[in-house]
Amino acid sequence: MKFNTKLIHGGISEDSTTGAVSIPIYRSSTFHQHKVGGAPKWEYARTGNPTRAALEQLIADLEQGTAGFAFSSGSAAIHVVFSLFSAGDHIVVGNDVYGGTFRLINQVLKRFGLTFTVVDTRDLAATSAAIQSNTKAIYLETPTNPLLRISDIQAIARLAQKQGVRTIVDNTFATPYNQNPLVLGADIVVHSATKYLGGHSDVVAGLAVTNDNQIAEQLAFLQNSIGSVLGPDDSWLLQRGIKTLGVRMRVHQENAQIIYQYLANNAKVAKVYYPGNPAGDGYAIAKKQMNGFGAMLSFELRPGLDPKKFVESLQIVDLAESLGGVESLIEIPAVMTHGAIPREIRLENGIQDELIRLSVGLEDSADLLADLQQAFAQI
Ligand SMILES: *Cc1c(COP(=O)(O)O)cnc(C)c1O
Repeated sequence: MKFNTKLIHGGISEDSTTGAVSIPIYRSSTFHQHKVGGAPKWEYARTGNPTRAALEQLIADLEQGTAGFAFSSGSAAIHVVFSLFSAGDHIVVGNDVYGGTFRLINQVLKRFGLTFTVVDTRDLAATSAAIQSNTKAIYLETPTNPLLRISDIQAIARLAQKQGVRTIVDNTFATPYNQNPLVLGADIVVHSATKYLGGHSDVVAGLAVTNDNQIAEQLAFLQNSIGSVLGPDDSWLLQRGIKTLGVRMRVHQENAQIIYQYLANNAKVAKVYYPGNPAGDGYAIAKKQMNGFGAMLSFELRPGLDPKKFVESLQIVDLAESLGGVESLIEIPAVMTHGAIPREIRLENGIQDELIRLSVGLEDSADLLADLQQAFAQI
């Protein structure tokens, strides 16, 4: 089955008892057992729920893995994945990962004895050099947030494998429409399904997928033990969103390409970050490992131009955190999504005060361009 067909018919696409083509919301916390100790398929909804199971099978199909797991948020999925490791274990982490992941690592996981080294995973030599005798995994994002940096998943997975280290990729920005890390050699993929997979800014959810049976068993155990599962209503809503991922991504990317061209030729813009920029340093790898360049872009205004005034002047593009929704969303990382990172560290990582991040939505591109134009005229 090809990808766009899988979105509709992948996973469990029909309810086995009624034939319903939309998997019903099984809002039941427990299931009748016909005899004691009979190992029934469904027993208690934290352990397994048919609506959630359909979603889990769907994301496993889409990422070409063997087992999927759904959680109450992307952060919960990431927490459960890190719970595979034990006190004394070491993990190499990309230096431009989601702010909430940094917070989880620094303020929660370190207290439980996990140790971390932060590296720029674009630099293979530095990534390799960061591996220690107790290193269990390399954790990275590509493209990153907000600078859209690209790391070579296949090269990293290869060097990790050689040393018996797992590779974990947060695939939120690319989505399985553009990139399948498991096919490139990664062991686990995580998603904030709150973003493109849900796609309508109306659900908070997380997913994890693996193609390794031993990891799958451990993740199932941890999902049930920690209990941060996705409820049946949200599992249903997320499946509904995923069905249109293909058509949404096509238009998201078409619009992003148009807006990229506009920004790249705008005298008030100093710099644009976009994986589809042919002069960008990640372009060749992006072309190799992604089917499209996504619909996230960031840009810096010329020094002296006020980014706050610019984003506040927009009338169609929503000033808001998050990304991947049908509506275009714009924000200033330095004071919004990345405001918790100390300024020196933020600047060291290349996130300037005047950087603006744009999640290009599905509006008519002419309206988006007109909105940007009128906001540029005000600064
Ligand atoms: C939003 C996001 C997360 C966290 O997901 P939540 O669903 O908000 O918990 C993790 N990684 C990336 C790349 C994200 O954008």
